[in-house]
Amino acid sequence: MQLQFEARFTSIYRLRIPLPPFITDTQPHDLEMKATGWSTHPSENLKPNQISFEDGEAYIARKDIINIFTDGSKTEHGVGAAFCVLTNDIWAYQWSAKLNDNNTVFQAELTALHEAVIYTSHLPNHNTSKIHVDNRASIMASSNSKSTNETARKIFKILLSNPRIKVSWVKAHAGNIGNEKADQLAKDATQHGQPYSHTKLPKPHIKGLLRKRMLGEWQTSWKNGDTGRKIYNIMPSVSLRPTNWIREDVIFFSQHGPFPAYLKRFHLSDSDYCSCGGIGTALHYATECIYTVSWHMRKPATNFEQEWLKRVANNLVSRQKIRGIIKFISENRDLFRPP
Ligand SMILES: [Zn+2]
Repeated sequence: MQLQFEARFTSIYRLRIPLPPFITDTQPHDLEMKATGWSTHPSENLKPNQISFEDGEAYIARKDIINIFTDGSKTEHGVGAAFCVLTNDIWAYQWSAKLNDNNTVFQAELTALHEAVIYTSHLPNHNTSKIHVDNRASIMASSNSKSTNETARKIFKILLSNPRIKVSWVKAHAGNIGNEKADQLAKDATQHGQPYSHTKLPKPHIKGLLRKRMLGEWQTSWKNGDTGRKIYNIMPSVSLRPTNWIREDVIFFSQHGPFPAYLKRFHLSDSDYCSCGGIGTALHYATECIYTVSWHMRKPATNFEQEWLKRVANNLVSRQKIRGIIKFISENRDLFRPP
């Protein structure tokens, strides 16, 4: 199952081959990829004054600067991105959109910044523009020529060819009028925004989706299969199925092992009697056989064997006793042969 998961992930993410529709409708081109190689020459850098991590509040008062505020938001309604433009104390323009519910807030922040730099790059050339962003991570990614994020690289290229566009950090939730407005626009867009399809789905999304699908298929085959039914009755859910089971656990709970009752059933022995005189079932050794007294547990009431087995499987002390019994029987087969 794990191998199948890896194969599917490699197919869609690395080889860019679509998966069959019964697995997912998500197409390779919907997924965000790591950008590789150099998008620009590594020696090309933004102007030193183009990026600032100082709070950009002071610029808002300046009339000769176009102030733009961006924000991304993720709420229970969805994911939204927005920017708004302040010139001469007038809100001149605003943009917002609703992203895919599976996009991250970081993707929303970058999308808002990307749309803002595109907008700003089309403004008349004599204006200096300051884009105020309250998310340090997206400023860092966008000012780094070696970022592996596709959107961050696009932003970097636009900034590189438009040195009059500056990006400045602004403290969130600190009463900055532009930041508050962008925040509200992005929040509103999570609910009522125009759908935005340019932002790709993050890598963890496809991983989660494939993992969920794998678990579902595994559960179906576990439920409908015809092997391991005794273990299925104890552990009906694959997610609960412990990976820490050792050989002795499997022998006891499957009841396929050196038990006279099992050997008789599969014609490996003539008698299902234990040498103590009882019927040699797994339960016999765990609760009543005189040869295994030191590992005994309390016997389940009639018709409660199933509940008892579940409890034993989930209890570490009981599991240790089970392991002790199985080891002991395996190492002393002669002792348990009927006389
Ligand atoms: Zn016995």
